[in-house]
Amino acid sequence: MSEQLLEKIERLKEQRKAVILAHNYQPCEIQDLADFCGDSLELSIKAAETDAEVIVFCGVRFMAETAAILSPEKTILLPDKFAGCPLADMITAEQLRQLKQQHPGAPVVCYVNSSAEVKAESDYCCTSANAVDVVKSLPTDKEIIFVPDQHLGRFVEERTGRKLLLWPGYCHVHVVITEEDIKNAKAQYPDAIVMAHPECTKPVKELSDAILSTGQMLHYVKNSKAKQFIVATETGMIHPLKKQNPTVKFIAASEQAICPNMKKITLEKILWSLEDMQGSRKAGSASRVAVPEQIRIKARKALDRMVQIFPAWQGCSRKAGSQ
Ligand code: SF4
Repeated sequence: MSEQLLEKIERLKEQRKAVILAHNYQPCEIQDLADFCGDSLELSIKAAETDAEVIVFCGVRFMAETAAILSPEKTILLPDKFAGCPLADMITAEQLRQLKQQHPGAPVVCYVNSSAEVKAESDYCCTSANAVDVVKSLPTDKEIIFVPDQHLGRFVEERTGRKLLLWPGYCHVHVVITEEDIKNAKAQYPDAIVMAHPECTKPVKELSDAILSTGQMLHYVKNSKAKQFIVATETGMIHPLKKQNPTVKFIAASEQAICPNMKKITLEKILWSLEDMQGSRKAGSASRVAVPEQIRIKARKALDRMVQIFPAWQGCSRKAGSQ
């Protein structure tokens, strides 16, 4: 890693009054450079809390949009304008409007992995950590529309006993992890605890000891005496787990579970985004993310309702280096 590059980033960060936020799936060097690491909502809340004027959001577009929904007065930069989330793109606002017409009166719960337009059409937002609590809080005499991830939705159905109207979306990174992967890893590490993300398929979750969001994984391992864990989520998650627990062994359930969009962010692109603040100067570099006000206000309501239902939610974004 070029010291010069890091120095330039630090200098510009200070000049621009910027902070760098990195998702748990980001490349290791980006997590190490970031001021804060965490899951998407933790980082958006961190973005809203900080005094910084500029947020460099190292993640994918819907995450930067969520930060823009919560902090419209700040400049939100996504260091690669093409870093999208195929799961979030699996439903459009128009498709959701049609679904709502087919099921009038059904409340809509959308996973935070969705566009700002889809959030604006939803009644409640949720994360993988609180989806069960959000659905549990809704009246039992109503159908509930749940978008866009079918695997998280089925997990919520099982935990709540509620029947949801599921959209057939999925994360192509998590469905790559197979039942065979878990069986093979368990055969090799019979004492290891298996942790799976709710976006994994049902057979993978059935073979797991704990089904957890990325933030919950960190918490779970910290409070466990186990010394080996098989981790069924995007492989970037191994880095914060190792940093927090240097004497524990972590095994990726599948080395194929790599999100190409998360890995589009590089140190150079962070530098360029701080240099030009727009993303126009260098091909593939940053975009300044903003959400039109009428969409932002509606999307904000869905996020606020989630926080009202789940006030016990506590962000556990970590200051880089303070594992
Ligand atoms: S890991 Fe899946 S849900 Fe997360 S950004 Fe990548 S494609 Fe989207």
